[in-house]
Amino acid sequence: MSDAKELQIKRRAAAHPDRPGERCNAPRGTWLPVVDHGRCEAKDDCVIVCPNDVFEVRRIEPADFRKLNPFQRIKVTVHGGKTAYTPNADQCAACGLCVVACPQGAITLVSSTP
Ligand code: SF4
Ligand code: SF4
Repeated sequence: MSDAKELQIKRRAAAHPDRPGERCNAPRGTWLPVVDHGRCEAKDDCVIVCPNDVFEVRRIEPADFRKLNPFQRIKVTVHGGKTAYTPNADQCAACGLCVVACPQGAITLVSSTP
């Protein structure tokens, strides 16, 4: 992806009216991003916009693939068998950029406290 395209994705996410900005700069780890692997199309927008390198897109784990319904399995396969994971979820500051950047609506922020 070109630098110009990445900049466009970042700007669009930062200006999105539905961005949950009220939680911006929350203490690290108080909110966690959760990816719906059945929706994710491995398009990398979350990797591009996250300022804290929370995401990576890689091959879906067999256990996660088995949880998908038949339609979702086809979808993931069509997208190279890849999906987004959150190896650095504890660095999430709840800025909301990934939530509004994801074209599939696959990311939600959930509170880590009961
Ligand atoms: S979670 Fe959304 S933004 Fe991230 S790779 Fe999947 S489709 Fe793309
Ligand atoms: S809310 Fe912000 S810091 Fe947290 S994962 Fe999404 S883009 Fe990264």
